Amino acid sequence: MASEEKVHKAHVLVLPYPAQGHINPMLQFSKRLVARGLRATLATTVHLAATTLLHPSAAAIAVETISDGFDHGGYAQAKSPEDYLAQFRTTGAQTLTQLITRLNSSGPRVDALIYDGFLPWALDVAQQFGLVGAIFFTQSCAVNNIYYHAYEGLIRLPLSEGRPVLVPGLPPLEPWETPSFVSDYGSYPGFYEMVVNQFSNIEKVDWVLFNSFYELEEEVVDWMAQKWKVRTIGPTLPSMYMDKQLQDDTDYGISLFKPETTSCLNWLSTKPTKSVIYVSFGSMAELETEQVEEIAWALNETTYNFLWIVRASEKSKLPENFLECPNEKGLVVTWSPQLEVLSHESVGCFVTHCGFNSVLEAVSLGVPVVGVPVWTDQGTNAKYVEDVWGVGVRARKGEGGIVRRGNLGKCINEVMRGQRAEEIKRNVVKWKSLAKEAIGEGGSSNKNIDEFVAGLG
Ligand code: UDP
Repeated sequence: MASEEKVHKAHVLVLPYPAQGHINPMLQFSKRLVARGLRATLATTVHLAATTLLHPSAAAIAVETISDGFDHGGYAQAKSPEDYLAQFRTTGAQTLTQLITRLNSSGPRVDALIYDGFLPWALDVAQQFGLVGAIFFTQSCAVNNIYYHAYEGLIRLPLSEGRPVLVPGLPPLEPWETPSFVSDYGSYPGFYEMVVNQFSNIEKVDWVLFNSFYELEEEVVDWMAQKWKVRTIGPTLPSMYMDKQLQDDTDYGISLFKPETTSCLNWLSTKPTKSVIYVSFGSMAELETEQVEEIAWALNETTYNFLWIVRASEKSKLPENFLECPNEKGLVVTWSPQLEVLSHESVGCFVTHCGFNSVLEAVSLGVPVVGVPVWTDQGTNAKYVEDVWGVGVRARKGEGGIVRRGNLGKCINEVMRGQRAEEIKRNVVKWKSLAKEAIGEGGSSNKNIDEFVAGLG
């Protein structure tokens, strides 16, 4: 009879921060590990487990729960970001310890912990059990190198207006092009602490994983790789959109919101090729009412069709009667199957807040971008979209810090048929192909994943 040791598959426990843009890439990475013969368990919060929808494509991943201290409401129940993060740290560490103890005694015993950079305390727990520790960053390498330099005190805060911010591996940035926790230092002290503290114990970690790909961020990856065992393993879109090697991997696998799939796809199918502007601000951004109104009028005035995602919690900000005007030109829904939408032939451009997943999805699926960043890392991602990768343009904020309708309309036209449209299209085609190569057989990310797996023996 084979001994328990002989049949033991390396078992990774995967701990994302409980938000859509963090679970998606970490769950996808888990699927890649399972496809290479590992066992993967997703540790999610009690609240999230009770409120999310699992897709069959995630069936090979076991799900276990820990507690963030807010089992009945999650983040929304906390008094402040500081309150949430402090509770999560205490209760999360205790319940993660209990989970690993249970798995180690009843099986399958855990070999490695892949934890979200937002939860650095998880490394201490991993090391108490002698596990391999891998930090997983869901934001870009560039953004994280800014946070690292802020953590080390190498960027003087608050920033001085007019003085460029210089970080190795990045182009010089205007202060407004840095992440909002840096450019608007003090705006969210709890979140600032969280993003810089990702580096508080990084010297002790075994692996530093990024949902990005080498070719996309070569210089900054090379710089970071001198310090840590950095491996880019993305883009983590489901395999069917990329290399097609993982059967049935058509979806991220977990959704915090219910997508209005049929209405989106039916509506898109009635629209001519590349005639639709897809507009989405992701799962968290809260826009000023005036900003929502300006977007509404910009979309109303454009000659293109539009599909606009306005989450239920944001709907009251729409101008009165905007939804009631029956108009073939536009569709507003609360959540979409974004990958299906972006890969639909009717979609011509993506007006996005530039969350890093959305940017990677646009790059990987070849959709030109109009960046309308709201906060956190989005402004830096938008800078890269326009100036580094050349896959779109950024809409500048006008009076009152709002992107005005005329400006947004101009940006949409620029990307759809303006002077830069052809160049943007060429870049989009180039990056799409490089993204596929990176994750495909023999590609940079693919090799990095192999190496990580081999390292777990
Ligand atoms: N998303 C989706 N449907 C929507 C809007 C967003 O499936 O209507 C997905 C999107 O594909 C992406 C994630 O939600 O994977 C959002 O992550 P991102 O980093 O872009 O933004 P965040 O929500 O973290 O601000």
